[in-house]
Amino acid sequence: MTFIPSRQAALARLTAFTPRMGRDYASQRNYDRPGHDDVSRLSPYLRHRMITEDEVLRACLGTHSPSAAQKFVQEVYWRTYWKGWLEHRPSVWTQYRAGLTQALNDVQTQSGLRAEWEAACAGDTGIDCFDHWARELVDTGYLHNHARMWFASIWMFTLRLPWELGADFFLRHLLDGDPASNTLGWRWVGGMQTVGKTYLARPSNISRYTEGRFKPEGLAAFAPPLDGYPNPDRSPLPTSDPLPKGPVAVLVTEDDMTPDWLLDQLDVSQIAYFDGTAHRSPLHTGAKLSAFMAGAKDDLLARIGTVTVLDTADDVANWAKDHDAVAMSYPPVGGTADVLPDGIAKILRPYDARAWPHATAGFFKFKDKIPKLLGAYDDQPEML
Ligand SMILES: Cc1cc2nc3c(=O)[nH]c(=O)nc-3n(C[C@H](O)[C@H](O)[C@H](O)COP(=O)(O)OP(=O)(O)OC[C@H]3O[C@@H](n4cnc5c(N)ncnc54)[C@H](O)[C@@H]3O)c2cc1C
Repeated sequence: MTFIPSRQAALARLTAFTPRMGRDYASQRNYDRPGHDDVSRLSPYLRHRMITEDEVLRACLGTHSPSAAQKFVQEVYWRTYWKGWLEHRPSVWTQYRAGLTQALNDVQTQSGLRAEWEAACAGDTGIDCFDHWARELVDTGYLHNHARMWFASIWMFTLRLPWELGADFFLRHLLDGDPASNTLGWRWVGGMQTVGKTYLARPSNISRYTEGRFKPEGLAAFAPPLDGYPNPDRSPLPTSDPLPKGPVAVLVTEDDMTPDWLLDQLDVSQIAYFDGTAHRSPLHTGAKLSAFMAGAKDDLLARIGTVTVLDTADDVANWAKDHDAVAMSYPPVGGTADVLPDGIAKILRPYDARAWPHATAGFFKFKDKIPKLLGAYDDQPEML
């Protein structure tokens, strides 16, 4: 399975999968089958906004009735919800990074832990399904959603490894590695997100949804919630900075690789690109992810013309100093936002500005707002 790193490839995948976004998706999406034809595999493109949620939702609702499309639409909004939830509570990302630093220190000083962690990442634990998924992740940069849930559960409750090391393993290799969906997905499995509610990987469930490819033995039979930080109180959401007037230098990052919506509103003097993927983890990112992001950069440059490529966060700071006004698409909570200099006008996409205020509590509360969010499509030509 390969992911071609271009917007054209993303649009082609969208076209190919749109007929399957209705009842087919709802009934088949939980099966982890070789090739993963029952799910869209759009996430590496959505993650970097090589295509937007708006484009995907429009394609879906243009082909399927609202009731047939319901499940797929909800899944697309899970990404939106997780991002909005983390924007309300950015300290959860900071705490994850602190926990990861501690766990990586422990790996240096505890040889037993180090050996177990290395075996888990290498797919060398003796648990055949887990080993298969570890290798699939490294080889392809993708895992099915159900496999991510089983893998995280086995990592935490059977292998009893620190969850931050597992979340980091995902972020180093997933082509769609995302601070919000990944951190909160791991916290959800471990019972820290929905407090007290964990996800246990059951052999019967794995056998059913892999159609008998795997029948693991010896998995943990219980999943007691992990200790973790309680969910912090909400802080105010970021607001969009005003659009700068006059000539503006625009910074594009890997968080939003279809920047036309912003460029169209500004008097653009120069464009620069900074890929912050290396800041997803303190360790090196995997070869598949690096190759995907290199290709995505070339595709961006081919689409938007002359761009100054900035290699490091210091380069960004120095470049920004040379311009009176700098603007960018708002960088969501994560490694890239962490290293950007102050003084850049951060402009929220209207899609995020509409949805994030509703991501205050659990997904079920957010889900009730989806019809209202979709209703905006009736009177707006584009939600960007
Ligand atoms: C432990 C764990 C870690 C995860 N880490 C990431 C991550 O780093 N990056 C990431 O993008 N997703 C992550 N997910 C969510 C989910 O597994 C992927 O988004 C999904 O598998 C992507 O495949 P797809 O595009 O074929 O999905 P489809 O089933 O075709 O869904 C369509 C789109 O809906 C969104 N979506 C679907 N399910 C979810 C979900 N559970 N949460 C958020 N958005 C969803 C994605 O944008 C996806 O492209 C994680 C889930 C778990 C349980």
